[in-house]
Amino acid sequence: MIPPVLPTYNRAPLHFTHGEGSWLIEEDGRRFLDLGAGIAVNALGHAHPDLVAALTEQGSKLWHLSNLYEIPQQEELARRLVDATFADTAFFTNSGTEAMELAVKMARKYWYEKGQPDKVEIIAFDGAFHGRSSAAIAAVPTEKMAKGFGPLLPGFKQAKWGDWDALAEMVSDTTAAIIIEPVQGEGGIRPLPDADLKALRKLCDDKGCLLILDEVQCGVGRTGHLFAHEYAGITPDIMMVAKGIGGGFPLGAVLATEEAASGMVAGSHGSTYGGNPLGCAVGNAVLKKIADPAFLEEVRRKAGLFRQKLEGLVADNPEVFEEVRGLGLMLGLKCKIPCADVVKAGYAQELLTVPAADDVVRLLPPLTIADEEIAEAMDRLDRAAKAALSETKAG
Ligand SMILES: *Cc1c(COP(=O)(O)O)cnc(C)c1O
Repeated sequence: MIPPVLPTYNRAPLHFTHGEGSWLIEEDGRRFLDLGAGIAVNALGHAHPDLVAALTEQGSKLWHLSNLYEIPQQEELARRLVDATFADTAFFTNSGTEAMELAVKMARKYWYEKGQPDKVEIIAFDGAFHGRSSAAIAAVPTEKMAKGFGPLLPGFKQAKWGDWDALAEMVSDTTAAIIIEPVQGEGGIRPLPDADLKALRKLCDDKGCLLILDEVQCGVGRTGHLFAHEYAGITPDIMMVAKGIGGGFPLGAVLATEEAASGMVAGSHGSTYGGNPLGCAVGNAVLKKIADPAFLEEVRRKAGLFRQKLEGLVADNPEVFEEVRGLGLMLGLKCKIPCADVVKAGYAQELLTVPAADDVVRLLPPLTIADEEIAEAMDRLDRAAKAALSETKAG
């Protein structure tokens, strides 16, 4: 019999009742160290006092207001994002996949309005993840995500991650945009080298197509810069943001240059909930903290410490781990045994991590994780690795 909740998830039998910073508390009282942070969503940890204050203060005044009216909290958040990034303008969504929808629409509309209506094709990469909407699964039509959901939307092509020569040949007169994650998340924590991101920017400029960056997972301080592309010293035309920007409140955004956004006029796009006062009040509180250079500096320091300790963990467990991957506090442990075994063994050590493709265990801790918690994480990861290995050998 089908359960009341549509069974589309494989859930671990854990029941968390509340959270405090880097910790989630199970109903039986066990305290789990949370290195998943709701898949890079709880960027400031659980129940951060500034976010609780922003939510409750706004919550007692006004939750929702239609975009028929001006929303000062939304304007403030847009201003913060525009001031802190390449972007000239922002549209707010409630999720990453909605940001994907608009990014695709915006790119196509741009060329349409430029008198080039045939430029509609979007090129995405293998191993990428841009969400679960019809456009997002057409962009990356893996068997897992797309099989049985056809007909898939036309106008998407897939390129091989890392094969830039093949990509250059694929770009044609009908290419509207290239979309890429500066650090692949679901694909197994694969950072795009700075030189490749620079080359991609140049390719787009030379061939006359737009560069869309999906920073839904790697953005909002995760890599130690406000956005990951800053490392490469380039800027996109359009960027998708979500996850961390709401700190746990459903919030996303599409940021764009004035030029790339020029096709989007009144009536061309909209959202009932997108940019509501409650979400934007929380988003402002998140950005107030994370866009602070001193906060980002601290993320980079902790990331260095974390990575150094992870290298030691890999050296101590050569039968379990192959290497450390990632950028900032978006880290991955490439496993030699099934990564799901390590994640599962973590539960017994009261440790939460997230599996990714390519047998990578993802570590996406709250950006506020303390040094002692990083040390504690290593002890628990070490025990989980050893337990997973003996399990593998026994089984
Ligand atoms: C999670 C994610 C999305 C989809 O976001 P949702 O909020 O789940 O719709 C898109 N792109 C990337 C890179 C993601 O990690």
